[in-house]
Amino acid sequence: MTEGFILPRICVIQASCAILTAEKSEMSEMKELIKEMLAGNKQSLARLITLVERENPQVPEIMEAIHSHTGRAYCIGVTGPPGGGKSTLVGKLISISREKGLEVGVLAVDPTSPFSGGAVLGDRVRMQQHYLDEGVFIRSMATRGSYGGLPKTASGVIKLFDAFGKQVIFVETVGVGQTELDIMETADITLVVLVPEAGDTIQTMKAGLFEIGDIFVVNKADRPGADYLVAQLEMMLHERPKQSWWQVPVVATQAVNDVGTREVYQHIEHHHQVLEEIGELTLRRRRQRRAELLRTIEHKIMAQVVKFIEEDSHLTIYLEKVERGELDPYSAAKEILNTRTLLDNWLRQVKKSRFQ
Ligand code: GDP
Repeated sequence: MTEGFILPRICVIQASCAILTAEKSEMSEMKELIKEMLAGNKQSLARLITLVERENPQVPEIMEAIHSHTGRAYCIGVTGPPGGGKSTLVGKLISISREKGLEVGVLAVDPTSPFSGGAVLGDRVRMQQHYLDEGVFIRSMATRGSYGGLPKTASGVIKLFDAFGKQVIFVETVGVGQTELDIMETADITLVVLVPEAGDTIQTMKAGLFEIGDIFVVNKADRPGADYLVAQLEMMLHERPKQSWWQVPVVATQAVNDVGTREVYQHIEHHHQVLEEIGELTLRRRRQRRAELLRTIEHKIMAQVVKFIEEDSHLTIYLEKVERGELDPYSAAKEILNTRTLLDNWLRQVKKSRFQ
């Protein structure tokens, strides 16, 4: 063997060793971070949240390491149209939770503005007073693209809060009646916050928003029309009862004046108690874990499939035709999926890939 052949091989081996060493040190750094977070270090929690949000390749290891520390927190989803007073209400509910000595986590999800690329509502000024409280951790997150609903990294962030020891976690999302199911799959209870002006449109309210509510809050009850909306909602809920074990309450509040907020809190506590008594909480958690597993597989396969389509010149022809409007997406999908050689080629590549 000539020296010219051996040298590059040594370089390759050295490079691989360097990568392995770097991976190893990253791994031990991450383990240290998790250890610190579990011991109560807020900065470590914040850094881990960032890793989850950026979909770092080490996320599966993080989730595995914290798994046995999760499943204890009670997750409260708060949703409704923008400007309804969700942040103000959550601010008051945080105060009540803190009076009871509970540790609180808040995940405020803002829709991304297509113009600024950032979160529309930005930092939650309405919760500002709680930023200085050691027992409260608030994190804002942008939905990136989808309007409303939960970003797919949200459940990882909620798990980190849970493992950190947060007992109550508020997840605030802008609900516009489109992607409400995500919050139901993640939260143990969902509050839908409406305003009196919604009274005129309540009959046509998107089914999604109506069906996910475990508690309805008619906020800004200092304005005219609140009683009318409460009565309308009660009538609708009476006609279409959600569950036999839970009568969905409708509460009028003035979050800004702290009126009715304690009543909302009592309903949340009562709901928790009932869920535990009838074993529904365990069932929900099982459903949530199952949904999360299937969702994770779907996301990973989807990401690979999209990559292959974009890399395969045969398939990009279909993509372009669909984009130009020359072929409808359903016929294109049918043709792609029925072209055996393409599918076989695809599956071969999928089999070769290593999923993170
Ligand atoms: P969000 O977008 O749903 O989170 O709404 P915010 O909590 O940011 O509140 C939007 C605006 O409504 C703010 O100016 C609040 O001060 C105001 N607001 C909140 N609750 C009430 C209320 O009960 N009555 C009135 N009149 N205004 C309120």
